[in-house]
Amino acid sequence: MKKFAIAIHGGAESIKPSELDKEKEEKYREGLTVALQAGYKVLEKGGTAIDAVEAAVMTMEENPVFNAGRGSSLTQRGEVEFDAAIMDGKTLRAGATGATRYVKHPISLAKVILQKCDHALLIGTGAEEFALRQKLELMDPEYFVTPEKDQAWRDKQQEGLKKKHEKMGSMADTVGAVALDMDGNLAAATSTGGLTDKMKGRVGDSPIIGGGTYANNEVCAVSCTGEGEVIMRGVVAHEVYAMLKYAGESLQAAAEKALHLHDDLLQGDKGLIAMDTEGNAAFAYNTGFMKRGYQEAEGEPFIALWEKEDQNYKSIGKAKKAKS
Ligand code: ASP
Repeated sequence: MKKFAIAIHGGAESIKPSELDKEKEEKYREGLTVALQAGYKVLEKGGTAIDAVEAAVMTMEENPVFNAGRGSSLTQRGEVEFDAAIMDGKTLRAGATGATRYVKHPISLAKVILQKCDHALLIGTGAEEFALRQKLELMDPEYFVTPEKDQAWRDKQQEGLKKKHEKMGSMADTVGAVALDMDGNLAAATSTGGLTDKMKGRVGDSPIIGGGTYANNEVCAVSCTGEGEVIMRGVVAHEVYAMLKYAGESLQAAAEKALHLHDDLLQGDKGLIAMDTEGNAAFAYNTGFMKRGYQEAEGEPFIALWEKEDQNYKSIGKAKKAKS
């Protein structure tokens, strides 16, 4: 069978095991499994990396447990605002969108921008009008607001959050995917509701090409999560590419070094997934916790949340051999 692989993330956060209840943990694992399967199925049938990353991300946008599409974090005004990007490593075309409020699947809007628009980044009402013209599904704003996020917003209000730019909540579970298809094409996708209690009009790293999302068939595909302001200033996704291409690092080392570059100046939660031209994946995060998954052709699915679970990731190769 020809080589193909997909890796996904559902966001990195600084939390301890005692802060996550079992039920939520289970929901994360289920959501990641569904997303991984959706992307894997596309690749298994010979579909493109672009379609695979879109399919995986769409399932997480529909799943209220993640901070993308339905279930997104709310702005200071108690509204949702989505950012998303998708990049095709073969053509280096990208589609990105910021601060939209009604499109059910921001990642699909990013994809139609990539495919049908002369521009690479469309924001706000212009992006929504384009989505309408492209007949994408729009939803009432109520659809996106879950009771949990609504409560989090109310709690913030009570805290008198007017204290400027206080540490912005921990409910930031951006989603993303990177994939290699049977034809050797790489793609990356990222979708998010952004940081809890962000200002209206704030756009994070996810739709910044080279910041939170990047793909290039020559080298790798990358999707980031964490504090967008820090990640975009570190141009983290493109740094992974640069570490591999120009510094000759291994994939995991490139991911770690890009993540920690200028750590003194760029402090904050950071995480990323990366995939190379062979379909190997790297996971790097400074939070101890990142929702993530991986599956390669005929391999076992790998789903993990906590850092210690990465031991299992390294044994994927063995699991594969034992099966054949
Ligand atoms: N990177 C996202 C943003 O800053 C948030 C996250 O990944 O949790 O918008």
